[in-house]
Amino acid sequence: MRRKGPVVAIDGPSGSGKSTVSRNVARKLGFRYVDTGAMYRAFAVAASEEGIEAEDDETLKRFTENVEMSFDDNGHIYVDGRDYTHRIRTPLADRLSSLVSTKGFVRERLVFLQRRIGEEGCVIMEGRDIGTVVFPDADVKIFLVASQKVRAERRYRELKEKKIAQGASQEYILKGIEERDRRDTERSHSPLRRAEDAVLIDTTELSLEEVERKVMEVIRGRLKEWK
Ligand code: C5P
Repeated sequence: MRRKGPVVAIDGPSGSGKSTVSRNVARKLGFRYVDTGAMYRAFAVAASEEGIEAEDDETLKRFTENVEMSFDDNGHIYVDGRDYTHRIRTPLADRLSSLVSTKGFVRERLVFLQRRIGEEGCVIMEGRDIGTVVFPDADVKIFLVASQKVRAERRYRELKEKKIAQGASQEYILKGIEERDRRDTERSHSPLRRAEDAVLIDTTELSLEEVERKVMEVIRGRLKEWK
């Protein structure tokens, strides 16, 4: 069945510029913006606050089974009704979310929730596996990439601006990115890869405004065909 509105899938590794660009483009188009990375992060932090170790599959599975997640109109993220928005951008959340997102049973539940959120359409959904697994029939697919060095620099600046993890050096952040890239691309469940029909944009040498303009061009071009 045809959805009421289009689905735009934007995938890529951390630091490729996905989140800022997706949020701005969604605002311009009047679409909903869904950050699926925030879902993995909030899920991981919530489980950890329940005292569940990322390695304890049995307990984590029970926690995953009926977990509910939602976004409100301000982009706040809730796990079982509790607001996690301000606790998910730390280096610990980076690591925990990267670990739990390798597990098939976690992905299965979060993909179910993501489809439920996206199926109304008029949505920009951003992550690692949106164009390949969550919405393989998305109306527009974009894959953003950038060199690891540039992504580490961006993440470093972001943490400084937000006054998080002030002591973390750029080398430490680069190591974290390398490790998460490895887990993202090597995991057996929905590894990070470009869908064959996704438009590739390399953001290494581009400013956010330039990336945004290119993404808008691709979306506008494709949505002309959307009926
Ligand atoms: O994009 P972000 O860095 O916020 O994602 C947090 C973690 O969630 C990443 O380590 C990534 O591996 C995972 N993730 C995922 N699938 C998605 C979105 C994020 O595995 N669709």
